[in-house]
Order: sequence, then C-alpha cells, then structure tokens
Amino acid sequence: MSDTIDMYRDLKELRQLERQRLGVKCPKCISEQPRRQPTILLPGRVCKVHKPWYRDTRPKPTDAEWNAAMEGTGWTQGANPPTEQVPA
Ligand SMILES: [Zn+2]
Repeated sequence: MSDTIDMYRDLKELRQLERQRLGVKCPKCISEQPRRQPTILLPGRVCKVHKPWYRDTRPKPTDAEWNAAMEGTGWTQGANPPTEQVPA
C-alpha cells in the first residue's frame, strides 16, 4: 500500500519539476489577464482560461530533450536513459 502512496507522491513531484523546467507562462494570460497568475503551460498544452484558447506551440520534447531538461533531478524517461549502464 505504501508503495502506491509513494508513487503518487513521486508523480506529483515530477509534475512540479516538469512545470519548473519545461513550463512557460501563457503569454495570453499575461497580456489579457495580467492581474492573475498566468497558467503554466507544458509543450503543446492548451490554456482555456480565455478565448480564443492559446496552445503552446512547442512540440512535445523528445526523450533526449526531456532528459536534458530534467538533468540532476534523478528522473529519466525513454528506453535508453543516459544514466543506464551499457556493458562494454
Ligand atoms: Zn492563458
């Protein structure tokens, strides 16, 4: 049971790290609603706070780009993360 709880906590931490490292503040929020905190958008995400919606134009990061952005956090993704030991 506690493993499941730990997993959820880790996932929450991962989402926070993703926002910090890959997120950008929605420029529409800043220009149209400067008095509230702008939405943090991950690549390709849509901000639906205002109309028309704003879609982040960046493509989804590749595994290599994601790993580079998350370097030092201990998080990796993809079939061959850079930390993986390859036998010589
Ligand atoms: Zn917005």
